[in-house]
Amino acid sequence: MDKTVPSLRQQLEQLVASPSVSATDPKLDMGNRRVVELLGAWLETLGFNVELMPLEGQPDKVNMIATLGTGDGGLILAGHTDTVPYDDGLWQSDPFKLEERDNRLYGLGSTDMKGFFPLAIEAAKSFVDKPLQQPLIILATADEETSMAGARALVEAGRPKARCAVVGEPTGMKPIRMHKGVMMEAVRITGHSGHSSNPALGANALEAMHSAIGELLKLRGEWQNRYNNPGFAVPVPTMNLGCIHGGDNPNRICGFAELQFDVRPLPGMALADLRAELDRRLHSAVSDEKIRLEYAPLFLGTEAFEQDAQSELVKVAEKLTGHSAGSVAFGTEAPYFKDMGIDTIVLGPGDIDQAHQPDEYLGLERIEPMVDVLRGLIAKFCL
Ligand SMILES: [Zn+2]
Repeated sequence: MDKTVPSLRQQLEQLVASPSVSATDPKLDMGNRRVVELLGAWLETLGFNVELMPLEGQPDKVNMIATLGTGDGGLILAGHTDTVPYDDGLWQSDPFKLEERDNRLYGLGSTDMKGFFPLAIEAAKSFVDKPLQQPLIILATADEETSMAGARALVEAGRPKARCAVVGEPTGMKPIRMHKGVMMEAVRITGHSGHSSNPALGANALEAMHSAIGELLKLRGEWQNRYNNPGFAVPVPTMNLGCIHGGDNPNRICGFAELQFDVRPLPGMALADLRAELDRRLHSAVSDEKIRLEYAPLFLGTEAFEQDAQSELVKVAEKLTGHSAGSVAFGTEAPYFKDMGIDTIVLGPGDIDQAHQPDEYLGLERIEPMVDVLRGLIAKFCL
């Protein structure tokens, strides 16, 4: 069988030239089908068994599982195929046209993280004619930048199965075994408006919000006393009161107010537990029968992530990269793989400083060393 696929550079050119923007704004949101079809075709040529799995009700948003070899162990090299939207006027070159300047490859997704796939394929090429004891799986997900719907669908399907996973998000080639989670929440308080001259004519939502905020800050302090992880630059869980809207006039009793805040929990703080505690505490802080308090998440949120420092995957990645495993401040799909019982690290060639920015690039000097690290991981967990 002819096992020729385009060169690493040509692959990245084609991936970057296939727009796959994820956005909460439906006018900007696109599918990723073209990207996974390209990957699937190349991997099939190399002998992988390729499955495309569209998300329910969204035929243009597709996960891809490509498997070489069989067994219930093995290694997953995982990445998302969508990108964030781009600021057209701020790019020096066309974001969808891969361009080399100053020993860098510029293009939307070059570092976050279409660029990971050609490197994973390059590493995989060294193994296609070798008898694998355990499978090598290349996994491409949809919709990481917005809903994480791709990763959620995989957890629901319980697929793929493997012993280890490497998520190739930009970490500057340093292994990452921890990140915080994130949740964004809203508190809506409804009272009754009325003339300000007589408080009995209404029920003041702003005053109730004052009690709710007091309780939130108290709870934040308790969490920060209870949880501390020196492996993070900010070692405590954070809560930020981000915006508040309510009322309309100084001489009217405020009838409605809404607060939005985020929480960034440490590993060991499950979102469901935090939400149960928030719900209980907010309702007990605002117990006036003329006031209605509603507390609700603005999106599902992402769990914090931690992989045991002593696990073999971490040890092997530390040895191959020459860096000890650390933490990052951004969220990834890693907790979803952990959820499926897979040992997981985040490790990729790009830098997060270039992600979500105009003139995103991948440094040419990263390519060979990262391919070597991936070859080392495949040899360890699949041969
Ligand atoms: Zn990313």
